Amino acid sequence: MPDLSPSPSATVHDGRARSLATFDAVAARHGWRCVYCDGTASTVDHVIPRRLRKKRPDWLPRINAPENLMPACETCNLMKGGQDVRHFLRCDPARLRRLVRAMAAINPGALTMLDGADG
Ligand SMILES: [Zn+2]
Repeated sequence: MPDLSPSPSATVHDGRARSLATFDAVAARHGWRCVYCDGTASTVDHVIPRRLRKKRPDWLPRINAPENLMPACETCNLMKGGQDVRHFLRCDPARLRRLVRAMAAINPGALTMLDGADG
């Protein structure tokens, strides 16, 4: 079980030490596969994009929640960028449903957490 507590050298919401620990935990949970293309995951994607932190500071807990962190390959992470995941996966609704189910498996509240997240 990786230690997810922030190390003294890492800030609470970001920082390399914490990012590496988070990646291991998130990727292991999904068999090291990208949730968007099933390729090999090498990054952690924020399903609700981090850029919304500025617009919706009240969403910080939701943005940093475990269910919002999914493994992604670098290509998909870059392609998705700050897009709403429903827009990014608009041509692949089956994959979007699987992703939402994976989020709900971590937190049943995730089924509604995307609501209003299209800013
Ligand atoms: Zn991918």
